[in-house]
Amino acid sequence: MGQIPLTLSRFIIQKQTAYSGDAEELSGLLSQIGLVGKLIAQDLRRAGLIDILGTTGGMNVQGETVKKLDEIANETFLKAFHHSELVCAVASEEMEKPVLFPENWPQAKYMLLFDPLDGSSNTDCNMPLGAIFSVLKCERNDRMPTEDDLVRKGTEQVAAGYLLYGSSTMLVYTVGQGVHGFTLEPGIGEYLLSHERIRTPVRGKVYGANEGNYHKWTTGMKKYVDDLKVPDKNAGKPYSVRYSACLVADVHRILLGGGIYLYPGELGKPEGKLRLLYEANPLAWVVEQAGGRASTGIMRILDMEAKQLHQRVPLIIGSADDVLEAEEFIQDRR
Ligand code: MN
Ligand code: MN
Repeated sequence: MGQIPLTLSRFIIQKQTAYSGDAEELSGLLSQIGLVGKLIAQDLRRAGLIDILGTTGGMNVQGETVKKLDEIANETFLKAFHHSELVCAVASEEMEKPVLFPENWPQAKYMLLFDPLDGSSNTDCNMPLGAIFSVLKCERNDRMPTEDDLVRKGTEQVAAGYLLYGSSTMLVYTVGQGVHGFTLEPGIGEYLLSHERIRTPVRGKVYGANEGNYHKWTTGMKKYVDDLKVPDKNAGKPYSVRYSACLVADVHRILLGGGIYLYPGELGKPEGKLRLLYEANPLAWVVEQAGGRASTGIMRILDMEAKQLHQRVPLIIGSADDVLEAEEFIQDRR
């Protein structure tokens, strides 16, 4: 007789016993993130039929146009965690300031940072979307956390992962003991274990980058991507391009199949586009936990000093050997 795969909450209770924190709280946190995923996935399935596509007419703190779905996803995260007794502060890519939940303090021991909807430019054309989350511990219990308490190094995360709204909905996470993936079984509304202990191949044969920005890249970055296109049987080149404009979807492909994703710094904009706290740190930890590597091109993402809530950072992430090779080019060592 076959087996029914473990549900997300069963898996956490059974397998994460070595987790430093409280497995029950962690299970609660991930279940709430899973709930957000179910609610958003439900909307996305009929997005063209209900009035949720297009823009709100507003701009967010990053100076980007806000899609209706950005706002819906952000609100869904807030509603799911307000009164949850799980987190006492949240910060989102879509909000200038963190939101504090004094009613959850001091019993709630965690803080949550998230990109509520990743790949928003994909909303109106039925392409993949995602959400990214990063969990920190409240270190103090003598006062409510402040904005500064949320601005922390990637190595201080206690849980991180993402939701992927692709042809199926997935929740992928790490607490520092490998990376595990769950697929939403929509008929019963449960996340079931579909990818236990994901390992990223040491080298891949695809790369993902927005090459429309080629003219803004540094010489090293240009040389690296040029090199990927030169046929070389031994190195498995030329590589194929796979780029969806949804960071989560692109990193997920690489996490499973290997390869490299690059959003580098640009001339006149060395900090690049992606956000350290909402995107780079959580994805870096996931990819490292699967045996991959995540870098700014110069240094490890998780060692980056966090200075501001909405700090940006270049991101080069994927198979260890591919990222090492990209670093050599970017640092002009090749
Ligand atoms: Mn994003
Ligand atoms: Mn976003």
